Amino acid sequence: MDGTDLIILGGGLAGLCAAVEAGERGATVLLLEKEAKVGGSSLLSGRYMAFAGTDMQKERGIEDSSLVLVDDMLDVGGGVNDQELVEAYGNYQLETYQWLVDHGILFKSLQAVSGHSAPRGHTIDSDQAIGVLYQRAEQLPNVTIRLQAPAKRLLQDATGRIDSVYYEVNGEGMISQADKGVMLTSGGFSQSEELLSHFAPQLSRALRIGGPGNEGDGLMMAWEHGAWIRDLPYLNGTYGFHPTANGPVKHQGLVFYKGAIIVNKYGNRFVDESLSYKLLGSVALKQPDDLSYQIWDQTVMDKSVAGDKLYDFENLLQQGLVYQANTITELARIIDLDPSALQKTVSKYNQGVVNGSDQFGRKTLTHRYGELTTIANGPFYAFRTTVAMLATYAGIAVNTLGQVVNPFKEPISGLYAAGEIVGGFHGAGYMTGSSLGKAAVFGRIGALTALGIEINEGADKTETIKSNPS
Ligand SMILES: Cc1cc2nc3c(=O)[nH]c(=O)nc-3n(C[C@H](O)[C@H](O)[C@H](O)COP(=O)(O)OP(=O)(O)OC[C@H]3O[C@@H](n4cnc5c(N)ncnc54)[C@H](O)[C@@H]3O)c2cc1C
Repeated sequence: MDGTDLIILGGGLAGLCAAVEAGERGATVLLLEKEAKVGGSSLLSGRYMAFAGTDMQKERGIEDSSLVLVDDMLDVGGGVNDQELVEAYGNYQLETYQWLVDHGILFKSLQAVSGHSAPRGHTIDSDQAIGVLYQRAEQLPNVTIRLQAPAKRLLQDATGRIDSVYYEVNGEGMISQADKGVMLTSGGFSQSEELLSHFAPQLSRALRIGGPGNEGDGLMMAWEHGAWIRDLPYLNGTYGFHPTANGPVKHQGLVFYKGAIIVNKYGNRFVDESLSYKLLGSVALKQPDDLSYQIWDQTVMDKSVAGDKLYDFENLLQQGLVYQANTITELARIIDLDPSALQKTVSKYNQGVVNGSDQFGRKTLTHRYGELTTIANGPFYAFRTTVAMLATYAGIAVNTLGQVVNPFKEPISGLYAAGEIVGGFHGAGYMTGSSLGKAAVFGRIGALTALGIEINEGADKTETIKSNPS
């Protein structure tokens, strides 16, 4: 394909947002996707996107703003995330939410989710969202999408600028050149045993879930050209999956964010359950035999959200994955825990709820949100839970314009990146919805930068914009 402006590597949410944005601006785009269909991990996701100040929040009377969202992100990231990137997200998140709505993406519900001090988990139907963006990209005559076309290497022109991609179609090598740049949106490396064994040996026992093509190809291509890397020390699994979740159905339940406690094989709690499920994941992997259960009662069960990927506990029960009993001791016997130990743990937790003094400092259901309830209203339930590596959240460094940078923070000419391949945004802790969110926000930003288009139009000007890239 001659005369291409932008080559995009990877057709998940980041790549499709970039392709649609660039295509609608009149650029000629070639999107290469390794797999037989687009979607990657975006298609498998829990479907939450983190936005603040939306019409959905306003309808529910929830007061929120980009500034509070940014504060929460920096807080959850332990202050080691790149403040400028987080602020750029704050500046463009609301406008991107609207862009997605305008492009036909349906936001179905709003939930309180991990890491947020207000309900900000806007749910999409991933099939619908990816389908709509894919269709839109396909409609644009100036956008070409090639499936089963894995990119292999980035190539430089005589000046050292990245301007071409070597890729394969049916095993045959091809080279395409782009006048305005190459954008990496090839996702993380949750499916690469080799990279995981190098960078996250502590997660060797975590389940592997994620887009089949997410093997870190883009990372390696960028490293070859001097890209800096961020956040590798903070790779974590995600707590909340049933041990069979790496099979055809990803059974997941975050009952702890609605009021369950988590106990190990001795029937003891070991953590403040309101923490990010990433932090819960690293503590849970250190428990004896990696064994833990979420334990709750009917009061919590009544908060089950039908059809929700994370909160449909009734569905888990119907599928035979949740144990049920009339008393805590009976429940303990069913799951082979010491009944008196579990009873003692539950009584102690209940006392803490009443006295406002939890053993592990738990004060809320999730990050600063939601009132705790005692586990006293039978029947009682248990869900065996483990950790999964679903998304790597660490990767190449970019600036607020989506340009890939070297260790000296200098842009690598012609190279852009967005989505899960990018590091530095989440820092030491991940908050729900921020990965799909960053894929959409920075997918668009990177494409616009590559095309030389100013990107501050429509930004959330009610906020302090420190990283305004214009
Ligand atoms: C089970 C699960 C639940 C999740 N839940 C949430 C959630 O609720 N909220 C949230 O924010 N995040 C969630 N995440 C994380 C989130 O889904 C991902 O981080 C996000 O979708 C990444 O988007 P992306 O476009 O960067 O990458 P992907 O959607 O993974 O797309 C990358 C694409 O690049 C392709 N590719 C890879 N290598 C090449 C190559 N060499 N050449 C061409 N193409 C290539 C891949 O095949 C893939 O299609 C979840 C992830 C999983 C697995």
